[in-house]
Amino acid sequence: MALHEQTRILIAEDEPAQAEVLKYNLEAAGYEVSIAPDGAEALLRIAENRPDLLVLDWMLPEVSGIEVCRQLRKNDAFRDLPIVMLTARGEEDDRIRGLDVGADDYMVKPYSPGELLARINAVMRRARPALTGETLEYEGIVLNLAARKVTRDGQTLHLAPTEFRILQALMERPGRVLSRQQIIDLAWGPNVFIEDRTVDVHIKRLRGVLSAEGFCDPIRTVRGFGYSLDIDHDG
Ligand code: CA
Repeated sequence: MALHEQTRILIAEDEPAQAEVLKYNLEAAGYEVSIAPDGAEALLRIAENRPDLLVLDWMLPEVSGIEVCRQLRKNDAFRDLPIVMLTARGEEDDRIRGLDVGADDYMVKPYSPGELLARINAVMRRARPALTGETLEYEGIVLNLAARKVTRDGQTLHLAPTEFRILQALMERPGRVLSRQQIIDLAWGPNVFIEDRTVDVHIKRLRGVLSAEGFCDPIRTVRGFGYSLDIDHDG
């Protein structure tokens, strides 16, 4: 697959067997892959030679996966480095903390390499930086900031101002999961008291407009956390 040529992935994983299986599968998909066996080594390698994406195990020696993620997000040079976290089964709090410190997606162990590959492909597609100009674009959805207009596959969609601002917040961070509080801060502004439930109501309206005319719903619900723009979500 030409899309993946030269795309470099760093796997931060201390279990050699798991790391090798993953490396084998990602290389078979055309990615260039290297392995860091602990968190400190991962940070060193990233600083020396930035990968295009990081697969980051939660449980790592030296520096934990969550700390690696936190340190990368604090650094302007790596703030937008795509990160897929691997978490232990059933560690719901870990998953939420992982998203909270800025991971782009997560997989729960044990995962199927095929499913992880699909997630990595999706994160890579979305990693293209949002356009700096007057329009944001995601999978056929075009948001024109100056004209306050939204189209999907060329059809004009009519959004209320709040829905427009929520969509803008999501489109500026494609694939990134935003908590309800983050959505409130971005769409209403800081220090405004809005109930979480109100966010859900506006998201429902936004979904209704975006998926009118038989379009698929591009918003993914992350239960107990929030929402992201993710055309590949499962439902
Ligand atoms: Ca581990």
